[in-house]
Amino acid sequence: MIRIIECCVCKRMTRANLLLWDTNICLECEQKIIDLDSDHEDYLVLKEGIKRILRYNQPVSGP
Ligand SMILES: [Zn+2]
Repeated sequence: MIRIIECCVCKRMTRANLLLWDTNICLECEQKIIDLDSDHEDYLVLKEGIKRILRYNQPVSGP
C-alpha cells in the first residue's frame, strides 16, 4: 500500500518516503539535504524542517 503524506519540508502531498515518527520527507527533499552544502541557503530551510519534526516528537522534559 502506498501512503500519501505531506512532506514536512516542502508541504507537498507526496508518497511516503522517509518517515520519521509518521512525518514524511519526500524523496526530493531528502536528496536536497544529502546533496546540499551546509552553507547553502536552502540547507537552513531543510534543516529547520527536520528540527521541527524532532521537536514535535520529543518527549517534553524539564519542569
Ligand atoms: Zn519535500
